[in-house]
Amino acid sequence: MKVIVTGGAGFIGSHIVDALIARGHQPFVIDDLSSGSPKNLPQGVPLFVTDLRHGSRIREIFEEVRPDWVSHQAAQMSVSRSVREPVFDAEVNVLGLLNVFDSAAAVSAKRIVFASSGGVLYGDVSVPTAEDYPAAPISPYGISKWVGEKYLEFFARERGMQGVALRYANVYGPRQNPHGEAGVVAIFCQKLLAGQAPTINGDGKYIRDYVYGPDVALANALAMESTLPTHFDAFNIGTATPTDVNQLASCVRDQLIALRAQEGIQLNLPEMNYGPARAGDLRSSLVCPARAAAHLGWKPGFDLAQGLQETVRWFATHAAQ
Ligand code: NAD
Repeated sequence: MKVIVTGGAGFIGSHIVDALIARGHQPFVIDDLSSGSPKNLPQGVPLFVTDLRHGSRIREIFEEVRPDWVSHQAAQMSVSRSVREPVFDAEVNVLGLLNVFDSAAAVSAKRIVFASSGGVLYGDVSVPTAEDYPAAPISPYGISKWVGEKYLEFFARERGMQGVALRYANVYGPRQNPHGEAGVVAIFCQKLLAGQAPTINGDGKYIRDYVYGPDVALANALAMESTLPTHFDAFNIGTATPTDVNQLASCVRDQLIALRAQEGIQLNLPEMNYGPARAGDLRSSLVCPARAAAHLGWKPGFDLAQGLQETVRWFATHAAQ
């Protein structure tokens, strides 16, 4: 199938591109390269460099490609930036999203899979949350993901397509950009490999559900390929495994120590710093992926230690280049 992947030059989007190619599909990428890079893409994948906010250009690309499916990953994805710049957040995450969904409908695309977020929809939860838990977004970013799901449901119902929202937990893995405000694993890897002490905000006891990027990409491929009975559905994509930030930091360090022993690389590992808690950070966020297992046949393939081993190795190789 022909698939337009918005944000396909970014972290998760580029793993989706890899998964689609491996499964015999033909991806086309739209990305403004604001945080993504062409280096994340395999050679030969068509890349249209444009901003989602340019509606007429987005429409032209859809008319040229005429995709069967759409994977909508591109977004303004910083919660704190959304609080500082709510208009910009809505321009990309609501109006940009509408440009994509409207163009998909105009060329009769059959299915849109949308990158939503469990954490921002469910708020502070201490047990793994199912999809019917009431949405309570508190940041403009969270509101835009919730609105995006509602628009997807509207387009699917009114314009004869299928819409699937995947509510990701905290995603980590190779190619995650360590220079953003999110992506704690990427930031820890990059700092520790540079011999600098990463900062843990607050007491480090904040609970998160970490899911490996290539596993999330597989969930996206299955969400496109699966036969689904309804025009719209939403699935959590996470592991339901609680890990606090102190545990995460110590797992990243363990993997770096193992790598140092295996590869004989020079590496000084400083202790972590502790800084003030960030306003608005949830104490706990976990999602239950049981519906994705039942309806998409998806299960996470990597546990945290396995995923971190791959991630640390990737950052070590790429930090050296
Ligand atoms: P990323 O920054 O690596 O990828 C986003 C991509 O979108 C980048 O390549 C960027 O250049 C592109 N982009 C941004 N604004 C654009 C615009 N206006 N026009 C065109 N392209 C634009 O981030 P990611 O972690 O891969 O996130 C992908 C999606 O997953 C996002 O929608 C994000 O909200 C969602 N998500 C991510 C996580 C996570 O933990 N990483 C969790 C929940 C949801």
